[in-house]
Amino acid sequence: MKEAEVLIVGQGLAGTLLAFELHFAGVDVCIVNNPQKSSATRVAAGMVNPLMFKRMTKSWMVDELLPVMKKRYRQLEELLGERFYFDLPIIKPLSEQETGLWHERKTDDKFASYIEEICETSPVEHVLKSHAYGIVKGSGYLKTGLFLDSAKRYFLSKQMLIEADFPANKDNFEDRVFRDIQFNRIVFCEGHYLKRHPLFDFIRLQLAKGEVLQIYAPQLSENYIINRRVFVLPIGYHRFKVGSTYEWKDLSDVPTEEGKESIVDRLKDLVNVDFKVEQHWAGVRPTVIDRRPVLGKHPQHEHIFVFNGLGTKGVMLAPYFATEMKSLLCNNQYQVITEVSSDRFL
Ligand SMILES: Cc1cc2nc3c(=O)[nH]c(=O)nc-3n(C[C@H](O)[C@H](O)[C@H](O)COP(=O)(O)OP(=O)(O)OC[C@H]3O[C@@H](n4cnc5c(N)ncnc54)[C@H](O)[C@@H]3O)c2cc1C
Repeated sequence: MKEAEVLIVGQGLAGTLLAFELHFAGVDVCIVNNPQKSSATRVAAGMVNPLMFKRMTKSWMVDELLPVMKKRYRQLEELLGERFYFDLPIIKPLSEQETGLWHERKTDDKFASYIEEICETSPVEHVLKSHAYGIVKGSGYLKTGLFLDSAKRYFLSKQMLIEADFPANKDNFEDRVFRDIQFNRIVFCEGHYLKRHPLFDFIRLQLAKGEVLQIYAPQLSENYIINRRVFVLPIGYHRFKVGSTYEWKDLSDVPTEEGKESIVDRLKDLVNVDFKVEQHWAGVRPTVIDRRPVLGKHPQHEHIFVFNGLGTKGVMLAPYFATEMKSLLCNNQYQVITEVSSDRFL
C-alpha cells in the first residue's frame, strides 16, 4: 500500500492554507474535498477589517496576523500567477458618539496603523449624510472564490487533491486508509461540517448562517469599501458584494427573501444610488462559542487533528494559524497558545 504523511479533509481557507504550509515545508500532503458540500469560503465577501467597529477596538491579534496574512497571499499570488488580495480603505460613517471615540483612538499610538483623520464630508458623494466619516487603513479583501479555484488547479496539477467525500467513521480513524493510501496523520478542516464529526463533538460551536448579495451599481465608487450596518465591497466591473446577515437557528445554506430584504434595506439607508441585485448566496460560518480558532490533536486518537473555528475573520486568521498548525503537525513537542487549543473544551 502507498503511504503518505498527511491527509487534509476540506479545501476551504483552512485546508488550502495548511496544505500550502505543509507542501512548502516538504511534507507529503494530500487533500480530499467534496465539492458538493457547501463552503463558507466560497460565499464570504473576503473583507479584512483591522478594527471591531462595535467597541472601536483593534481586532484580536491584528498586529501579528496582518503582516503574516499579506506576505502569504502575495507569495501565493506569485506562485499561482493570479491576483486575489487587494488593499482597500474602508469608509465608516460615524454618529456623534462614534466621532468622539474615533478622535480618542486617533491620539492613541496603538491605532496609528489603522486609523486616518476624520473627514467632515464623505470622500464618496453618494454615501448618505452622517455626522462625520472615519477612514480605516490596513484593510482590504480577498477574492475567495478565485483563490480557492487557483489553489485547486495547482493541487490537481501536483496530484495532491482528490475530489470526493471523506466518510468520518471509526475504521477511518483507526486505519487512516483512504483510496488505498495509508496516512500517518489526518487533519479535519471541514468548516461547519465539524458539527457532525463523531470525534470532535466536544468543541463548542456556535454556527452562524450568513447571506450576501452581489449588486451592479455603476454610480458607486470602487475606491473604497463602505461599512455601516452593512458593507459594500467593490469586486470590479461596477459589481459589489453587500452583506451580511447573522442567523443562528436556520443553519441551511439556502438564501432567503428575508435575508435579501434586510440587506437591501440597510443598503438603502447607507447610499443614494440605483442598483440591481444580481446574485444572492448563503453559507454557514464555522464560529466557536468564544470566537477563537480551534487547533489541536484529538485527546485519544493521537494521529487525528482539527483546524477550524475561523468564524467571521477567516481571511485574516487562516494564514497565521496555518503556520501554527504546521508546527503542531511537524513537531510533537509544539504547543499552541491555550486560547486557540482544542484542549480548552475538554
Ligand atoms: C456570508 C458570509 C460572509 C463572510 N464574510 C467574511 C469576510 O468578509 N471576511 C472574512 O474573513 N470571513 C468571512 N466569512 C467567514 C469565512 O468564510 C470563514 O471563516 C472561512 O471561509 C472558513 O473556512 P473553512 O476552511 O474553515 O471552511 P469552509 O470554507 O466551509 O471549507 C470546508 C470545506 O470542507 C469540505 N468538507 C467538509 N466535510 C468534508 C468531508 N467529509 N469530505 C470532504 N470534504 C469535506 C467542504 O466541501 C468545504 O470545501 C464569511 C462567511 C459567510 C458565511
